[in-house]
Amino acid sequence: MFELTKESLKKFYNIGENVIELYEKALKDVEDEFKMYHEIREFNQLKVLNAMQEERISDSHFTNSTGYGYGDIGRDSLDRVYARVFNCESALVRPHFVSGTHALGTALFGNLRPGDTMFAVAGAPYDTLHSIIGLTGEGNTGSLKDYGINYRQIELNNGKVDMNLMEEILREDSTIKLVHIQRSTGYGWRNSMLVSEIRDLIDRIKAIRSDVICFVDNCYGEFIDAIEPTDVGADLMAGSLIKNIGGGIAPTGGYIVGKKEYVERASYRLTTPGLGGECGSTFGVMRLLFQGLFLAPHISIEAVKGALLCSRIMELAGFEVLPKYNEKRSDIIQGIKFNDKEKLIKFCKGIQAGSPIDSFVQCEPWEMPGYEDQVIMAAGAFVQGSSIELSADAPIREPYIAYLQGGLTFDHAKIGILIALNKIMNEY
Ligand SMILES: *Cc1c(COP(=O)(O)O)cnc(C)c1O
Repeated sequence: MFELTKESLKKFYNIGENVIELYEKALKDVEDEFKMYHEIREFNQLKVLNAMQEERISDSHFTNSTGYGYGDIGRDSLDRVYARVFNCESALVRPHFVSGTHALGTALFGNLRPGDTMFAVAGAPYDTLHSIIGLTGEGNTGSLKDYGINYRQIELNNGKVDMNLMEEILREDSTIKLVHIQRSTGYGWRNSMLVSEIRDLIDRIKAIRSDVICFVDNCYGEFIDAIEPTDVGADLMAGSLIKNIGGGIAPTGGYIVGKKEYVERASYRLTTPGLGGECGSTFGVMRLLFQGLFLAPHISIEAVKGALLCSRIMELAGFEVLPKYNEKRSDIIQGIKFNDKEKLIKFCKGIQAGSPIDSFVQCEPWEMPGYEDQVIMAAGAFVQGSSIELSADAPIREPYIAYLQGGLTFDHAKIGILIALNKIMNEY
């Protein structure tokens, strides 16, 4: 490590020699792994650049429409750029989505009808989808369940989709209209699903029921591979703009991409039947959405590099990690198992202390809307809750696993992780 940096880490943050030693060893181990991600980054940059050029993006697309927002060329051309990047027919990219959950919910409500069944094949979906489905939440909330939409789920078997059981259910239950596939781990102690695995899965589904909608929750997955689920047969996919694809620049929003008919139905749910995606003024955020997309291939890989370093250094420090630093990844999330509530909280507080914004704030567990357990969230971000920025969160439940993600620059992620580990190793 550069001597000046080492001295400053000691001087500013009291980082112990033991932590620095682990860091130097971990960095050596992960650097060999970076090469593949640099190649993915390079290719995705080319893909995004070319999509923008093909759509002839110019200054005039950084629109600031008002009112109905009819004919907002920035909005309409960003949709086409996304459709090119994702190699699919259609896209709906909007600052009007308040979060990834909102985009996912809109895609589901837009495409499911009473009597249909949604079938989750990779275990329980991400926590915030439970209230959408109607698994949790009391009373008459207008969940899918309230609208008479059924739900089935099968568990992962050794971390993989149970293909035989899935096929059996698909053959026997003709009400299945949509299969839910989650690429990222979410708050689950499992590997993210590689796009090649998603390809196999979709092939098996389509062989039995070609009319079923293969729906992918792509949150945290964008640009971690050279291909996306829509390159391998996903019909409909959604994600958040304050994760990978917003490049840390998008101030808010979400996207839905896929087959034209399915994206259109989702657009009728975002606005109303008839209006769809043709309305909606864009509050002057279009430049940020374009620029964020342009930076996203780079930023997403910065975040992955932070995750790799975190994986290796925490493993060297004696913690169980998932994935390991040399396992192929499909998202930016790093799981660390603490088996100890206090260590988990210290780690999250350390990430908070290493943030550029709100570094002086003590994060504490709280009852977050949409989540079943208390959650602690360390996030000192420029964009509130943005998890492409360095952040760590953890539901407060055994075995006390923290999920770290983000880092707009690898250098920042490194410092944050060192502060967090130092809290555990050297602060009592
Ligand atoms: C983050 C996330 C969501 C929800 O996104 P929000 O923007 O936080 O609402 C859904 N699914 C997965 C897998 C996620 O990681």
